[in-house]
Formats: sequence, C-alpha cells, structure tokens
Amino acid sequence: MNLNVYDRLPEGFLETGFRELERVLPGPSLIRLAGQADPPLLLATLLHGNEPTGLMAVQKLLRSYRDAGEKLPRSLYLFVGNPAAAAQNVRHLPGQLDFNRIWDGGDRPEHRMAGELKRLAMERGLFASIDIHNTSGENPHYGCVNKIDAACIQLASLFSPKLIYFTRPKGVLSSAFAEHVPSITIESGKPEDPYGLPHVYAFLCRVMTLDAIPQWAGGGDGLEVFHSIGRVQVPDVSRIGFSEKRNGFDFCFIDHIDQKNFSELPANALIGWRLNPQLGLRVIDESGQDVAENFLVYENEEIRLKRAVVPSMFTQDERIVHQDCLGYFMEPYELPHFPPAG
Ligand SMILES: [Zn+2]
Repeated sequence: MNLNVYDRLPEGFLETGFRELERVLPGPSLIRLAGQADPPLLLATLLHGNEPTGLMAVQKLLRSYRDAGEKLPRSLYLFVGNPAAAAQNVRHLPGQLDFNRIWDGGDRPEHRMAGELKRLAMERGLFASIDIHNTSGENPHYGCVNKIDAACIQLASLFSPKLIYFTRPKGVLSSAFAEHVPSITIESGKPEDPYGLPHVYAFLCRVMTLDAIPQWAGGGDGLEVFHSIGRVQVPDVSRIGFSEKRNGFDFCFIDHIDQKNFSELPANALIGWRLNPQLGLRVIDESGQDVAENFLVYENEEIRLKRAVVPSMFTQDERIVHQDCLGYFMEPYELPHFPPAG
C-alpha cells in the first residue's frame, strides 16, 4: 500500500463524490497545496470510507477559493485515507486494518503508509492537524483531544464546546500528531446530518485564516469536557439485536440506544439484555484492562449500569459494533488551569 503524493489537485478531484473518488485517487493520498502562509495545515479525511462529510467540506472550501481566483490563505496538506473503502461505503475493506488505528507503528502495509505520511507531513512542520470524521450513531458534533494541551483544546473549542479527552484506543492519527503540533479529531454527526457539512466548512474556513491558534486561558469556561473511561465491546462471535429482548440473539440493546449519547445515564439504568449467559460484554479502560465488572451488572437477563456514565458513540449499526465497538462510557472531566500556577 503506497502513499500517493500530489503537488496539485488531481484532475476532477473537486467534482467527484466519495463513492467515485477511487477513480481520481487510486489509494491513500497526500495532496500538497501552496498557500500564502506556512507551515501547512494538515487535514485528514476518509480514514473511514463511510464518513464523507470531511471530504465534502474540503472540496467546498477549495472550490470557493478556486472560483474566487484566490490563493489559499495557508498551505494545505490534505490526506485522503481510504478511497477503496469509500467506493464500498464501508469503514474499511475486509482484510484491511482500521485506518484510524495505524498511527503508532507496526509492520503491516498500512503502518508503513502511515509512517510515510507522518514523515512527509512533518518535513516542514505543521500549523495544526485536524482529522474529520462522522459518527455512525446519533451524537452532537464534538472535538476529541488525546492530551490535555491548551492549543489542542482551544482548536477543538473553535469547532464545538463539547470535547472528549481520550487516550484509548491507541493508534489514532490525532494522537500521533499531537506529539508535535496542535492536533484534534472532529466528529461531525452522521453522514446524513444536514448541519454537518456547513458546520465543518465554516470551521475549516476559520482555521485556514488564523495567524495563530487563539490563546486559551484554561479552566474550561463554557466547555463541556468528558473523559472516555471505557470502550464497550461485544464478543466477536456474538449475535446482537436492538430495540427489544428477542430470541435468537446473545445480546439485545434498548431501542435507540444512540439517542442516549452525551446525556447522563444514572446507576441502575437498563441498557439491554443478555440472552446467552456464557458470554459477557467487555469494557476496556484506558490502560487496556477489562473493567466490565465496575460498570455492568447482569440481573437475570437484564444488563444494568452499576454506576452513572455519559455514553458516547453508541451505535445501532451492527457491523460497526463488531468492527469497532458498541460505544464508550465517559465521565465529566475538569480541566486544569493553564499555565499551571507556580
Ligand atoms: Zn471515523
């Protein structure tokens, strides 16, 4: 798997939808475009092939400058992750690694491609790195940071006052670049969310014209920050259903579980039913341990919460549940003040 590198927009790129993009970009691609200011802004999109809002927003941004005959205000490095998966409208193809889990090294072709992008992207330094995603369940728009860093938090807060801080799963793009530059992931709702494209477009327009990332005084005024504390997974082989308790499944989850995202669920809340007592849900914490017993209790067939949590990224897409997870448990996170006193 090679990284294709372009120093101008490939013919047809701005007019091609994500399902057909593979005709223009045969694989993972870095498109380097010169602007008035340096260093470049890195935008990443389509790391997941079924999450097109970022691509559409970048195309709209580039078309607006082209149509106005204006040079970009800042140089842009655009990374388009997985056109082959986009052609199938799937997160990743069978046999491929998840492209947002490959950024902390490894010996697969996807890891080598990621290493090459990191090397090229950091050659001249970057202004910032923004990786644009959609969610498969109902979620408000929010930003993610992988370290408690003033510039990362300030950049994310320009997109949304809702913010998640997480360090697991490992190998996400925003985490790899956060070692060097302000780096975030933004989640812009479901692909069909009509507010996703205009919101991401407005955010990118703003970031492209910044001379510097605004200073943040700290303390989190107006921000709602959550820390991800557990990733909920079903056993690989399990049969899962949604909406009600039904025979023929190992687990069933409550109807519209994704509509609970970002609202607190109290202790003892029912989240589903376990119909196969041989199997258990896993809840993986930030150190990689299964801590399901701290969060979940099985009462007869019911699955209930042992403690209050704020869910996020819960999805009713069975394929995503198996490829990635059912969702995350979070808790409110209090930001420190910057710079640290003393
Ligand atoms: Zn994604």
